[in-house]
Amino acid sequence: MKVAQLFGNQIELRELDNVSLAGKKGAVVKVLGCGLCGSDIVKFRHGLAEDGTVLGHEIVAIIEEIDSETSFKIGDRIVCSHHIPCFECHYCRGGSYSMCRHFKKTNIVPGGFSEYVYLSEEHLKNVAHKVPDNMTDEEISFYEPLGCCIRAVERASLNKGDNVLVIGLGSIGILMGQALKAYGMNVYGCDLMEERINLANQKGIIAFNSADIEKSHEYIYKNTNDIGADCIFMTSGADAAIPLALKTVRNGGKILVFSSTPKDFGYANNDIYYRELTVMGSYSPRPQDLAKSFELLTTGQVNVKYLSTDYLLDNIVKAFDDTIKNKILKAYIKIGG
Ligand SMILES: [Zn+2]
Ligand SMILES: [Zn+2]
Repeated sequence: MKVAQLFGNQIELRELDNVSLAGKKGAVVKVLGCGLCGSDIVKFRHGLAEDGTVLGHEIVAIIEEIDSETSFKIGDRIVCSHHIPCFECHYCRGGSYSMCRHFKKTNIVPGGFSEYVYLSEEHLKNVAHKVPDNMTDEEISFYEPLGCCIRAVERASLNKGDNVLVIGLGSIGILMGQALKAYGMNVYGCDLMEERINLANQKGIIAFNSADIEKSHEYIYKNTNDIGADCIFMTSGADAAIPLALKTVRNGGKILVFSSTPKDFGYANNDIYYRELTVMGSYSPRPQDLAKSFELLTTGQVNVKYLSTDYLLDNIVKAFDDTIKNKILKAYIKIGG
């Protein structure tokens, strides 16, 4: 089977032996396609993964072979995520599901950018769903990324009608904005790129250009009775987004960190102290966040039209390149679809 493997910061297409059940429970699936995640980009750019790693985890696939206690059958078109918490350890009991050791260890084999993948019984039971016929592969491929956004929205535990600002309107920012709307929030969004601002506006996010930090501050304060935003969702990976967040969040408000930044500098201690700010991170979804994501996508409450661009597996290097150069919002790698 053909796979895309990472060697240093080079992607190579290679042939590997087909995955098989070989007596194990679970399923062998034919991958129709797989979304290219921001975390794949980070691993690629900085050579963070072991040589031979097959990246990709946002798969849509058809079941080819199965031995399972679930109701999935051969021929089912499914969407599946990659990590599963144990629900029993100290992390899980404390609500830190994505910090669970079992969560970090579980994965799809060998990875999403492959013609075939092995999914364990645990995957089928917890993080897989049968896709309704009226949804395209590309649409449902947002299942895992939207699940990450839902986890962030849940962690922020806001009140309906709260004013929130999403900084960064890439595909994740636009998904986050729509997820927040589905939870009843009053959603603002900002970015520096006009096409992204326009697309966010089309998706119901009140979006503006944040090139001028003072004007952005005035705009948010004017629209929130001179209070500021209750929560800022940081989907931008730019260092400049940090002062903007501190300028637009209300006293006593929250900043939800959802992206790495190049310089890794932090939030000012005295802002956190005097203004009673809460700065929290959110990384990866629980099965219940994924189930909510599946519901929002299949009921059309989150609309992903115009968010992704298709590439064939043979052109995966170009997909990475175009994403890094901001030529596209999000790449979807067509494999067997
Ligand atoms: Zn992802
Ligand atoms: Zn656990």
